[in-house]
Amino acid sequence: EIVFDSVEKSYGPTRVLEPFDLHLADSEFTVLVGPSGCGKSTTLRILAGLETLSGGEITFDGNPISHLDPKARDIAMVFQDYALYPHMNIAKNMSFALRLKKVAKSEIDERVQRTADLLNIGHLLDRKPAELSGGQRQRVAMGRAMVRDAGTFLFDEPLSNLDAKLRAKMRTELAEMRNTIDKNMVYVTHDQVEAMTLGDRIVVMANGVIQQQGTPEDLFKSPVNKFVAGFIGSPT
Ligand code: ATP
Ligand code: MG
Repeated sequence: EIVFDSVEKSYGPTRVLEPFDLHLADSEFTVLVGPSGCGKSTTLRILAGLETLSGGEITFDGNPISHLDPKARDIAMVFQDYALYPHMNIAKNMSFALRLKKVAKSEIDERVQRTADLLNIGHLLDRKPAELSGGQRQRVAMGRAMVRDAGTFLFDEPLSNLDAKLRAKMRTELAEMRNTIDKNMVYVTHDQVEAMTLGDRIVVMANGVIQQQGTPEDLFKSPVNKFVAGFIGSPT
């Protein structure tokens, strides 16, 4: 389990995350929702070790992780802006972490091809990121995380750039992944349908403050304030 204990984040004098607690149980799919700028990406980046904490601590199964650099955390992240390596082809982009870990080449090739086929980018492996459409790049970013066998996956709006049809297909794939693979997943989205269909638990944020956490049913039936009610779409 992953526990955030009084975690807070400031950039210089600007507080972007007020101190908060968050408990991610094993094998849970947690969805973070909230308006632009409320601190969703920052929360993922802190967990991945890409930003330092300004206060508090995060523990994995009781062990503090603040001092661990990103590579030492068992986490794969899909970035909102893709963060692909422009000079590497798609196959190399997808296999980067596996090559660092010295996984056998035959196994890398097999995993990359299988994941790329699943995401409908199997025919693009020789191209460079600049030669792909936005939606294709988004699927590469997703594939790059999915080829890894990390215990925790962080997704930062991974479907935002896809057309409606592809988005529905990927949502089904993710739901499948959620049901069949024993992983912790934390997923950021603006899309209420995505949040309600994928989330075991939903965390609603606004202005760096967690407004409410709970199951989709909890939030729908008992929103704590108008903001949550409005966001989740319940009648209150
Ligand atoms: P979006 O839905 O638009 O992606 P978000 O919820 O992911 O938004 P964050 O990227 O976490 O929002 O940003 C939270 C706040 O922190 C924003 O007000 C943003 O301007 C600020 N912020 C993010 N990175 C930095 C930085 N490096 N320096 C200063 N402020 C930053
Ligand atoms: Mg963001």
